[in-house]
Amino acid sequence: MSQNQITLIGAGLAGSLLSIYLAKRGFEVEIFERRPDMRSAEISAGRSINLALSVRGLHALEKVGLKERIMQIAIPMKGRMLHSLTGELNLVPYGRKESEVINSVSRAELNMQLMSAAEQQGVEIHFNQKCTGMDFESGELKLHDEVTNQDSVTQKEIVIGTDGSASAIRNDMARALDGNFTKDDLEHGYKELTLPAGRNGQFLLEKNALHIWPRQSYMLIALPNSDGSFTCTLFFPMRGDLSFESLKTKKAVLAFFKEQFPDAFELMPALVEDFFTNPTGALATIRCQPWHLAGKACLLGDAAHAIVPFFGQGINCGFEDCTVLDECIEKQSGDWQKIFQEFGTLRKINTDAIAELSLTNYFEMRDHVADSKFALKKQVEFALEEKYPEKFIPKYSMVSFHRIPYSVALAKGKVQEKILAELCAAITSVEDLDWQRADELIKN
Ligand SMILES: Cc1cc2nc3c(=O)[nH]c(=O)nc-3n(C[C@H](O)[C@H](O)[C@H](O)COP(=O)(O)OP(=O)(O)OC[C@H]3O[C@@H](n4cnc5c(N)ncnc54)[C@H](O)[C@@H]3O)c2cc1C
Repeated sequence: MSQNQITLIGAGLAGSLLSIYLAKRGFEVEIFERRPDMRSAEISAGRSINLALSVRGLHALEKVGLKERIMQIAIPMKGRMLHSLTGELNLVPYGRKESEVINSVSRAELNMQLMSAAEQQGVEIHFNQKCTGMDFESGELKLHDEVTNQDSVTQKEIVIGTDGSASAIRNDMARALDGNFTKDDLEHGYKELTLPAGRNGQFLLEKNALHIWPRQSYMLIALPNSDGSFTCTLFFPMRGDLSFESLKTKKAVLAFFKEQFPDAFELMPALVEDFFTNPTGALATIRCQPWHLAGKACLLGDAAHAIVPFFGQGINCGFEDCTVLDECIEKQSGDWQKIFQEFGTLRKINTDAIAELSLTNYFEMRDHVADSKFALKKQVEFALEEKYPEKFIPKYSMVSFHRIPYSVALAKGKVQEKILAELCAAITSVEDLDWQRADELIKN
């Protein structure tokens, strides 16, 4: 064993990217991954078929030379395409500039490319190896082989848990440290459904948009895939009068979709089969502290801070973790206690902030976007940004198109909401904006 060897648990998105950063710094890196190798096995990549990558994730990829490769499999989405009950469409741009887009990427393809890039850097990935716990005193890492059903134990000095929201490493760390760990379940869950491509891979909805059917207490969204299909996700209450629990029959599902999402309904021939075959996923916010145990173990990605997906930041934040940990390694040369300590201190305030931003964005997506003032507020935000580029960057843009710390975006966003509420209260068009008052508010 040596301090030059680092063991990761989980070759998901965060673990695979982190291993590349570490290998590039000259560490010997191995990963134990519970699942089979998805490059040769027919398995789903886990939660959500596609996801939105924005500037933080892209920056982290760029730093290890992978951005261009990943952008080849990305579909830019320039705005939210809102679908009303009667089928009217309204595109509300995400950013003020053409370049301000978010990118739909296949999770499986991204994961496979990262694993291959990691192996090219000399990282060894052991598949079908489920970590069942760790004794941090003795350094014993416990593993279970999912194929042979054999248990084994191996000595490891530095272990990083990148094993996602149900992290085995986090659970044992919380026990060993008597640490602070909370899981707040959202009352809404999600289900993925398919909207297939038309003839010859034709996109049957606008390709370069994230589609939203906002219905106040729930919503349907759809992100494009490169084969012309869309992956739809229904975010819906788990229990109650209108919920996953209440939609029990084929007839009820068809009637609900026909009434609430009529234009999508027409394009989803496998709706009923998908609805009853695909799992219903739960959503939660996970917070824990500390994220590390002496210089021996640390958490990164969803293992440390799983969030609800409504700002599309989960993996963007996990990838940003990788760049920050890399900077800490650079600064604290070789002292893992200090490296992990500094990493946790720098990230915790920001991951708590994106957790809060993600929860509030659920209300914006499912409810406020349908409000007639929503589009006006976005136009006013862009007008303010154009006039005061140094002082006013809209909250969504701070999070998705800049690498401004999430905690700063959260704090500034709260001030912006008050400014926008006042400026938009008495107007119906951006042309009527009271620039004198805007000037005072911005300067204050
Ligand atoms: C519906 C939905 C939509 C989302 N959309 C977006 C989006 O648009 N943009 C975005 O940025 N984020 C999005 N996210 C969040 C994103 O999926 C997560 O933040 C991201 O997957 C976290 O990556 P991770 O590598 O930390 O964890 P995971 O992706 O969970 O990877 C963990 C890995 O560890 C392995 N593992 C788990 N336990 C063990 C064990 N005991 N032993 C060994 N291996 C183990 C798993 O098999 C897996 O490979 C979304 C999430 C959901 C649920």
